[in-house]
Amino acid sequence: MVNKKSYGLGSQRSSIRELFEYGRQRIAVAGYDSVCDFSLGNPSTPAPEQVRKAFSDILENEPPVAVHGYTSAPGCDEIRRAIASSLTNKFNMDIRPENLYITCGAAAAVTSVLAALTIDNQSEFIAVAPFFPEYRCFAEVAGGSLKVVPADETDFQIDFDELEKAININTQAVLVNSPNNPSGAVYSAETVKRLASLLAAKSAEYGKPIYIVADEPYRELVYGKVSVPFIPEYYGNTIVCYSYSKKLSLPGERVGYALVTNKVEEWKKVFDAVAGSARMFGYVCAPSLIQRVIARCADIQPDLRVYERNRNLLYASLTEMGYFCAKPDGAFYLFVKSPAGNGNDFSEAAKKKDVLIVPGAPFGCPDFVRIAYCVDTEVCERALPVFGEIINSK
Ligand code: PLP
Repeated sequence: MVNKKSYGLGSQRSSIRELFEYGRQRIAVAGYDSVCDFSLGNPSTPAPEQVRKAFSDILENEPPVAVHGYTSAPGCDEIRRAIASSLTNKFNMDIRPENLYITCGAAAAVTSVLAALTIDNQSEFIAVAPFFPEYRCFAEVAGGSLKVVPADETDFQIDFDELEKAININTQAVLVNSPNNPSGAVYSAETVKRLASLLAAKSAEYGKPIYIVADEPYRELVYGKVSVPFIPEYYGNTIVCYSYSKKLSLPGERVGYALVTNKVEEWKKVFDAVAGSARMFGYVCAPSLIQRVIARCADIQPDLRVYERNRNLLYASLTEMGYFCAKPDGAFYLFVKSPAGNGNDFSEAAKKKDVLIVPGAPFGCPDFVRIAYCVDTEVCERALPVFGEIINSK
């Protein structure tokens, strides 16, 4: 006998992973040049040179026992100090090492935070569509449930009437992912202010804090002059979950953090609950080598040139062909409305022509597909005629 839920999650891949595995097989048979794989958010830009140098320097010059040993459960002092000082310099807040819990990426941070905020099986977390599909699994593993607020499909900000209807006494937090996977939308300061005032009012009405869990793996991936509001500046009861997977192109190294600032009510209690959840799930002590690398590289900025070029090319070409998509301000995804009204059909039609795009249903928008454009530009160029053929056949 095994746990039914675990078995279900382990035996069925997510639709994104399913398509990615299919792409690997197709590439093995048909060759790289025949397949346009836009399935997975795996950065195509290599990790910055300074990061690669830090790896080799640490391996050559630091004592192996320390480099490969366990660190403190919340992370080694060096990384917590480096990130705290980087955040303090960047934002208008005093952030200390003790506010940071280093995790194996944003996935472990979000899961630990949701578990920390789950009171009982009535606890609810709200995600605004389109949302990262793993949130459902993270919320359920934590012991609560996920409630989805329908998308505002015009610009992918928040439909506040729908959000307000979804909040009740069991609401523990609203999950915010900006820049967003899959729409690329960045919540404006106005959206964040409205969200903060709604949640402050609802917290007062129910006599308990309703938190924001800000999942921010794409914080630095923004184009042009767009800036991403730092939500703790607008709403004290915000817990930030962060990752270096996308910013530094290190998804396989598994490193990120949960940040519980002093502005969170009873912040130390909340922090300890996050630490307790991480312990419960066996997430203590993120990999030691990458912690040391990040301690040296916390301030390095990503190279966005390829992503920006791909975004501009795909957005301009697809809208000219007649597709609808909101122009993404950040991340490396384009969320495109199916010309036939159903994202599954669109994805299937493209798959038949070896263009792999993910249906929007798991993201809460069944009429859309997601194009992960973190690929070489020539892959985007090769795919354009296929998008043209599909829309012209409707
Ligand atoms: N949250 C969002 C919105 C993501 O898109 C991803 C990964 O694609 C994650 C969390 C998980 O990131 P990590 O690799 O840091 O665990």
